[in-house]
Amino acid sequence: MTKRVALVNGKIFTALEGQGEVQALLYEDGRICEIGSDSKILDIIGGRESGSAYVVDLGGRTAIPGFVDSHNHVLSAATLLEGVNCFGLKTIDELKAAVAAKAAQAEPGEWIIGAGWIESQFAERRLPNRWDLDEAAPDNPVCLTRLFGMVVVNSKALELAGIGHGFVPETGRVDLDPAGEPTGILREGAVNYIRRAMREGRGTRVQGRIGAREASEGQETARRILLALNELLKYGITSVLDPGVTGDTMRAYTRLWATGALPLRVSAMPAWHGMSAISSPDYVPPAVEAGLQPGVGDEWFRIGNLKMAIDGGLGSKTAMMHAPFRDGTRSTVPARLDLNKLGRYISHAHALGWGVGIHCCGDLAQDIALSHMAEALSKRKALPHQRHHIIHGYYPTEYALDTMAEYDIGVSLQPGFIYVEGDIYPDNIDESLLAGFKPARTYLSRGIRVAINTDVASGPYDPFITLYGAVARKTMAGLDFGKAEALTMREALRCFTSGGAYLAYRDKECGVLAPGYLADIAILDRDILDADPEELLRVKVVATVLGGEFVYLTEHGPEVPGELKKS
Ligand SMILES: [Zn+2]
Repeated sequence: MTKRVALVNGKIFTALEGQGEVQALLYEDGRICEIGSDSKILDIIGGRESGSAYVVDLGGRTAIPGFVDSHNHVLSAATLLEGVNCFGLKTIDELKAAVAAKAAQAEPGEWIIGAGWIESQFAERRLPNRWDLDEAAPDNPVCLTRLFGMVVVNSKALELAGIGHGFVPETGRVDLDPAGEPTGILREGAVNYIRRAMREGRGTRVQGRIGAREASEGQETARRILLALNELLKYGITSVLDPGVTGDTMRAYTRLWATGALPLRVSAMPAWHGMSAISSPDYVPPAVEAGLQPGVGDEWFRIGNLKMAIDGGLGSKTAMMHAPFRDGTRSTVPARLDLNKLGRYISHAHALGWGVGIHCCGDLAQDIALSHMAEALSKRKALPHQRHHIIHGYYPTEYALDTMAEYDIGVSLQPGFIYVEGDIYPDNIDESLLAGFKPARTYLSRGIRVAINTDVASGPYDPFITLYGAVARKTMAGLDFGKAEALTMREALRCFTSGGAYLAYRDKECGVLAPGYLADIAILDRDILDADPEELLRVKVVATVLGGEFVYLTEHGPEVPGELKKS
């Protein structure tokens, strides 16, 4: 029997260009068949009481298309959930308290992990160190990942990793105090000493994980994927694009897909050069060897572009920029891949029908990537399933904007970085450059496709923080980047729904609320469309609808018949 459902009495943002909000929509077996006024939809079903459709009264609530989070490191979201989530902690004392709380639940020797901190968020305005963490967790190794490029660990972790007095790593850097003692800050490649210690099971298990001995690696990955995806539903995210996936994770996704166990729609980008798991310069992802293409899949699981990475970021001064940083230095780390081979990689991928999504924060890195993309595209136009895109694109040059417009190369932006990381930028770049950071308005005005997304765990997985960054362009401490590059709320929502769907090869099935599209919908506890952007820091999702089914519903949501809820 088909299930017809009418959502009425709402303020429904469809994300369709040139379409105002509608009051109601009708869907059947998970696909939208009509949108419009209450009277139009109620006419079609013969009135509220006709029994020909379930009627859900939204009570005037705002509804939007489910978010298509087109850059979401799903396993990092699991780390935030199981470990210490450092986003929003205001002082190092709060950080210590959060670590101590985890340690209280942990067995002695068990690893405590976490992510999401940056020194600019702490009132002390300094890096946390091993001694801070020792106070909080004297009996457990602790490793907390910064937003980009470094970790802080405690003495137990240093000991397990074999890092002692005067230690010099093979790559990266171990910060030492004047007496030669490691401070607990490990940068770039030096983090691998900790990863190795965790992998080899030095210390006991990692907290929250069941451990390799008790379950196979694949089941463990699947467990963490499910944990993360179920959490994302609470934020109205109904589709993700996971960038830089290796074989294990891909297998976990496809197994979940095969058993109908994926809680939401996933597109996955196979990891390629510049991603930390790829060490051989001749590496070809199995998905490429197997002759797959981006776009292959169904409404639950799809293949995305190949993911590559050139440089680092701004908060860690590892972006490849044309101009030096404020203190006269340049990125201290080498490019993440062999720049002499980049042209070959991109033309190879292009010839095989693959799109490439490439991490370039700095303007120099972006220009280099685009010159190779342009060369490939000038020889042969992109196929419909080849959607090259630039990831991050902090400061596009005129060359970059022209090239992206000419060849229809999109950009994937994370305006949430302004909120979580922006307070540290004035340390690294001139204040005059803040206004032009991640210039969404400029990209759009040049006709370039823009998708915005969370990039968890370089940002939090709360999509409203991303929207806040795009619309308000203000930091956690209230520093205003100016409104020259700000988007309107509706533009920002489009970039986070239909914009993301394009990069995830899902633009024919989700991202807008229109006839023929999947009924993927987030229902909010307040209006954001015509509200002060500050409301974005308070808004909550009260219900998430996925393929017509209410997969998440709080007590503040609308009245929903039991048959429409996920069993
Ligand atoms: Zn990322």
